[in-house]
Amino acid sequence: MIESRPVSTGETGSPLDWISEELASLDQEGLRRQRRVVEPLPEGRCRIDGRTLWNFAGNDYLGLAADPRVVEASRDAAAELGSGARASAAVSGRTPVHAKLERRIAEWKHVEGAVLFPSGYAANLGTIPALAGEGDVVLCDRLNHASLVDGCRLSRARLRVYSHDDLDLVDRELTKAADARRRVIVTDSVFSMDGDLAPLAEIHGLATRHRAIVIVDEAHATGIYGPQGTGLVPELGLAEAGFICIGTLSKALGSQGGFVTGSRDLCDWLWNRARTQMYSTALTPAAAAAADRAIQILSENGSIAAAARSSAVRLRHALQERGYAVAGQIDCPIVPVLIGDIPRTMDLARTLEAAGYLVGAIRPPTVPRGTSRLRITVSAAHPPEALDGLCAVLSNASP
Ligand SMILES: *Cc1c(COP(=O)(O)O)cnc(C)c1O
Repeated sequence: MIESRPVSTGETGSPLDWISEELASLDQEGLRRQRRVVEPLPEGRCRIDGRTLWNFAGNDYLGLAADPRVVEASRDAAAELGSGARASAAVSGRTPVHAKLERRIAEWKHVEGAVLFPSGYAANLGTIPALAGEGDVVLCDRLNHASLVDGCRLSRARLRVYSHDDLDLVDRELTKAADARRRVIVTDSVFSMDGDLAPLAEIHGLATRHRAIVIVDEAHATGIYGPQGTGLVPELGLAEAGFICIGTLSKALGSQGGFVTGSRDLCDWLWNRARTQMYSTALTPAAAAAADRAIQILSENGSIAAAARSSAVRLRHALQERGYAVAGQIDCPIVPVLIGDIPRTMDLARTLEAAGYLVGAIRPPTVPRGTSRLRITVSAAHPPEALDGLCAVLSNASP
């Protein structure tokens, strides 16, 4: 029997007092993030505090998170195999649906193999340190997703962060790193806060010349670009370039989890060395089965991304006509509207929300100071009138 005793916090306060001070300073700068309860509804809507809004702040680009076929697959898997996987994949958590999903991803992407991770974040955190370490040099675009940056740091390789798309710098750094054991270039394929595309063909050229490994995070390209939504790498004809591709099951695929694709050897290596999948419980059977069904849907319908991509084009044109600075690739479902300062960005987001439209308000530290923005994401689930209404509100607000 363990007895609990009263605890004294002492006279001088708690060593955690700094937290409330830090939070107060976040408040002052308008940087304190609030968590809300968001209840998803059909057609890309949601309910918050009793109000129904169009959700332009999610990543469910294809509307697959609520697709009845996907939901049914996850329900069936939970009924058959239980709610949890019970162990890491290496121990006993790799159920038949996990194995089926690995095969499905490999066949879909025309690669030898795939390894599953608990999330896209975990895929990056596990993969980079499995491939680079002390004595290696890792080159990382400054706008890469936080999980890539964290993976680079965790690897203990020498980290060189290059300004966005600055391939001359990459070239020079690779030349300097000629004696390193390994050279690794790490990049998003679609940049998550800017909606633009990495110059992958040029990166491939540099990597070939310098014998560098390339790791490409296809989180936002998966389901959107490439034949059957296989990603930007195949879209650009680089499927045979030997890139190590990382993806998430949690965005366009409407489920949860991450994956890495590549050669059989690469997969075996990650299976043996990527700590975030070795020491974490396997995906729930429901998540694996949902992702498997979503990829099946993509495989059978090559044009499923067309609706989201054409909505993105329409929205970009409409906002540019109204004088807004819109960034990114014309048909990318991530539509960033650059505002600049934090209060104006928050103001616009509040105006939109009051009118029934939920959008992301992106501020530091997610983006550099002075580049705060609205991040609007379109989904195939949105009907055209939702887009029109959003544009009308922004029209009235003027840039
Ligand atoms: C969202 C995202 C991730 C993380 O994926 P999760 O499955 O949500 O953990 C990784 N990389 C990029 C570029 C992302 O946008």
